[in-house]
Amino acid sequence: MEHSLENIKPLIRCPVCQKKYEPGKVVLLSEDDRKTALHLTCEACGISSLVFVSLGKMGAVSFGMLTDLEREEVKEFYGSEAVSADDALEVHRFLKDFRGGIGECLS
Ligand SMILES: [Zn+2]
Repeated sequence: MEHSLENIKPLIRCPVCQKKYEPGKVVLLSEDDRKTALHLTCEACGISSLVFVSLGKMGAVSFGMLTDLEREEVKEFYGSEAVSADDALEVHRFLKDFRGGIGECLS
């Protein structure tokens, strides 16, 4: 099964106001067969968030997390090289700690 941004787009919503994101506002950070990491900026509430989408037996699951990082900063953070899902998880953990455990939101 092909896994692309098109397939997961319907899953991507703002963790705060639940508004669907405009495709143009989504920055793809990393992608592999099962996991995708995205940075989003909500037009409605202005909140930036990181969204991780993973594909499992139960289908696609999305996990949204608020972030203070702007999209350019995130790109820098991730660098220009391809990032593995493990790396994305590390970033996830780092940001979680960085935020002191707040700003986490399950969608
Ligand atoms: Zn929003």
